[in-house]
Amino acid sequence: MHELSIAGSVVEICAQQAQGARVRRVTLEIGQLSAVMPEAIRFCFDVCAKDTVVEGATLDIVVMPGAARCLACGATLALDVPFGQCACGSENLELISGQQLKIRQMEVV
Ligand SMILES: [Zn+2]
Repeated sequence: MHELSIAGSVVEICAQQAQGARVRRVTLEIGQLSAVMPEAIRFCFDVCAKDTVVEGATLDIVVMPGAARCLACGATLALDVPFGQCACGSENLELISGQQLKIRQMEVV
């Protein structure tokens, strides 16, 4: 399961950065185009956090909307799937947002 390994690395990174302190809250940015299910991450996060300093931490998930730049005319358009067509007719798009998956913030006790 994809989400399990992602949640595992998130817990690992948080535990390392906490340096022995207890982690109280983690804010995660998940791109809308990353094909990662926030609810699955939430579930896996609790499983992975068990018996670590991250156990019991609140997980906040911020879903980042997808966006792309048209390489033909330079327009920026919103996407909810990782492909699309610009108003100018071009399908030559460069994704500029929505694929990220990163820890935005972490609070320790
Ligand atoms: Zn265009």
